[in-house]
Amino acid sequence: MSNTSALSGIGQDDLAKIMTLEQGKVLEEARGEVAYGAAYIEWFAEEAKRIYGDVLPSMSQDRRSLVIKQPIGVVGAITPWNFPVAMITRKVAPALAAGCSIVLKPATETPLSVLAIAELAQRAGVPSGMFNVIPGMNAVQIGEQLTGHSLVKKVTFTGSTRVGKILMAQAAQTVKRTSMELGGNAPVLVFDDADIDKAVDGALAAKFRNAGQTCICTNRILVQSAVYEEFLSKFTKKVQEFVIGDGLDKSSTMGPLITRTAVNGVSSLVEDALNKGAKLTTGTKPITDDSLESEVGFFYQPTVIRDADQSMRIAKEEVFGPVVPIFKFETDDDAIAMANDTEFGLAAYVFTKDQSRSWRVSEGLEYGMVGVNETAISSEVIPFGGVKESGQGREGSKYGLEDYLEMKYICLGDV
Ligand code: NAP
Repeated sequence: MSNTSALSGIGQDDLAKIMTLEQGKVLEEARGEVAYGAAYIEWFAEEAKRIYGDVLPSMSQDRRSLVIKQPIGVVGAITPWNFPVAMITRKVAPALAAGCSIVLKPATETPLSVLAIAELAQRAGVPSGMFNVIPGMNAVQIGEQLTGHSLVKKVTFTGSTRVGKILMAQAAQTVKRTSMELGGNAPVLVFDDADIDKAVDGALAAKFRNAGQTCICTNRILVQSAVYEEFLSKFTKKVQEFVIGDGLDKSSTMGPLITRTAVNGVSSLVEDALNKGAKLTTGTKPITDDSLESEVGFFYQPTVIRDADQSMRIAKEEVFGPVVPIFKFETDDDAIAMANDTEFGLAAYVFTKDQSRSWRVSEGLEYGMVGVNETAISSEVIPFGGVKESGQGREGSKYGLEDYLEMKYICLGDV
């Protein structure tokens, strides 16, 4: 474990600084994530008091039927780099609240934030052996151990759909319970009756947080034809105001991407869209590896693509960077069909002032979470999670504890 004296008096600002240095997001966002992550600890500490059992109607005079909830057992957890604090507390807090010990492997890129949290947990009195961190670059072997070991009873994972499927297949060999928080492809639907300024601000906030590297990021914006040009011009203007730079520099409003591979991935989606007829309203034309090295580093200019269509890779794939394609639609049914035309189903957002439309569209969207006239939808109080290939299980809220508990039926005879 890390050097205790070096962490003496560590607080929100220190954790935020560690996060910005290892992950890149701007300091203000990192501070926000620390608070968001801490909220899960408080929430589940309170929820631990509400793990209720049940007394059921008896089938006969001499019997009583009860249900008790017990900790599921040792939890194996694997987490990503994009939220190096919140993705950890979302798993560790409910595990400890349920009475489970947890063994957690953080992403290779961001081990320091979790080690700092583990140190704080130890100082706060979490008993030794309850919260264990295994940083390591051998993800495959660690994953095999966690999914294959007979003592581990549950595997919880946040990361890509590709890796989630591997872990589910491995965990199936010993029939472990799994929770999977996987990739997303969030659409923002802007209808012609929407408050366009509100839609611009909402889509913008949901797109560019963490330089576009969040699972509930705006991945696609679908705009009704009558307001397409108005939305596009207002949105583009605001995107041009971002200041890209070092996350520790107070003037920066957007930091770098996590790796050069990430920059290349985003760049290739842009190139594909432009080759198929889309146009840039602002941002970077595709850039080569050489120029990345010398001029751009891991930074990518915020980019808006107009005239996008369903034939483009960017319509189906998770962008995970500061690029957004804008599509046009005519009817509500078209918008719902386009929004659902993806294997992902994590978050979707709708902007309309029409109450009946907001109900109809929300019910038609195949997503685990829908924000209507709001894109800041996440908190410790709500059930966070997706459907389809975005995963299974929910984190946070009163539902988030159930995944860490086993239900046991007890029949008392001879009463
Ligand atoms: P990733 O490549 O799936 O990696 C996530 C974690 O899995 C890392 O700790 C990684 O370790 C580990 N890993 C990789 N291959 C593995 C294997 N074969 N066996 C066991 N573990 C393995 O995802 P990422 O690129 O870090 O994160 C981005 C993805 O996470 C996006 O798709 C995003 O949408 C998703 N995400 C989802 C949510 C949600 O709540 N639904 C939240 C945040 C992010 P190494 O780092 O050592 O390779």
